[in-house]
Amino acid sequence: MLAVALCCSFRLASCVAGLLVLLSLVASAARAQATAPREGPREGRRDAACERFLAAELPGLLDLYRELHRHPELSFREVKTAARIAGELQRAGLDVTRNVGGLGVVGVLRNGEGPCVLLRTDLDALPLGEETPLDYRSEVRTESPDGRVAGVMHACGHDLHMASFAGTVRFLAAHRELWSGTVVAIGQPAEERAGGAQAMLDDGLFERFPRPDYALALHVTQLLETGQVGYCAGPAMANVTSCDVTVRGRGGHGAAPHLTIDPIVLAAKLVLDLQTIVSREIDPVEPAVVTVGAIEGGTKHNIIDDDCRLQITIRSYSADVHERIQQAIVRKARAVAMSADAPEPEVRFSEFTPALVNDADLVARVVPALQDALGDDAIVPFAPAMTAEDFGRFRLAGVPIFMFRLGTIAPARMAEYRSRGEEPPPLHSPHYWPDAEASLRAGIVATTAAVRELLPPRR
Ligand SMILES: [Zn+2]
Ligand SMILES: [Zn+2]
Repeated sequence: MLAVALCCSFRLASCVAGLLVLLSLVASAARAQATAPREGPREGRRDAACERFLAAELPGLLDLYRELHRHPELSFREVKTAARIAGELQRAGLDVTRNVGGLGVVGVLRNGEGPCVLLRTDLDALPLGEETPLDYRSEVRTESPDGRVAGVMHACGHDLHMASFAGTVRFLAAHRELWSGTVVAIGQPAEERAGGAQAMLDDGLFERFPRPDYALALHVTQLLETGQVGYCAGPAMANVTSCDVTVRGRGGHGAAPHLTIDPIVLAAKLVLDLQTIVSREIDPVEPAVVTVGAIEGGTKHNIIDDDCRLQITIRSYSADVHERIQQAIVRKARAVAMSADAPEPEVRFSEFTPALVNDADLVARVVPALQDALGDDAIVPFAPAMTAEDFGRFRLAGVPIFMFRLGTIAPARMAEYRSRGEEPPPLHSPHYWPDAEASLRAGIVATTAAVRELLPPRR
């Protein structure tokens, strides 16, 4: 018994001692937690008004997205799309003007004193037959500008831009107590043909309607996951010019090439010679691209045609480099013709799009608001690329701009691609499709956060 009693009291003592140690550990952990600085990235703040809005409106906005996806229209032909967006703006209570610079739509939402923010969505789709597994994929076919029948597809995500734009405008119109100022919401046609922004500016966008202090837009990307937003301060997209070259020869029978000047041989020489412009004539530290995207000539095995046509895209960041590339193309086309005693080639430049340069101060102001809304880790730097966007026109017209990139591939789908050593299909691919719901949600959360940062409510 005694031995047992001793043993029990020893156990009791050690229990009490253990309990005291435990309590002191808990207390010191709590103290440490209270005094330690907050570490690690923040989660996105879930704005109650925005969450309530999304719970109610997201299903309808997804219907709008699918509807737009199913019925794409080519640049300069966005008749039904523009009407749809105009209807959206009107229903939300904006003052709507149609046919600004062609099929452009402008909606103005005035909400007291304060700055003016322009929100832009593009409207157009691409001449591309869709090959996605979506049950709402586009079956539309039409005659493209070059006379061929082609499929039409929203392969650049402009349908998602429109749905996100519609959601943002609906939210702002329904929550006027959360902001003060003016929103000019524009549906811009013909982004893919680089004509829509300039046409709207030429038709008095900044004179007939409130002149914006800032302009915001988003563009989808397959390089980021849903929930992520990419930003790039300064130059983000390139100067682009389209170039059409017609190499002229002298046609004849394929069996008697010595009596002809074969334009296909000349065009083949020119394609190779063009490759030396960037590699041998441009400073290697200057970004530059010369791509021959299309070549077309001849009709049959045994006929030598009169001419052969090349379609080229020229891309750079510097205006000087752009000029030098254009001069080099003219020189090389003439040199190839001269080498065969052929007629002078025709070289035509068109569809110029200026570089897109995001305003560094505007980016610095908006990025913390995006981090606040979506979480620190979700907002990531996004490298400049040689793609193009005519949203840069608004900066040239004197308005600070910020176009951010919206991730559209669900993390699980991204992981699946990467596990196979692949990347998701890029924009302008017939296989590209965004995970719509999560992309749309993040697009609306990000854009409303950006607008509210720039148009805070009056105190
Ligand atoms: Zn595009
Ligand atoms: Zn685009």
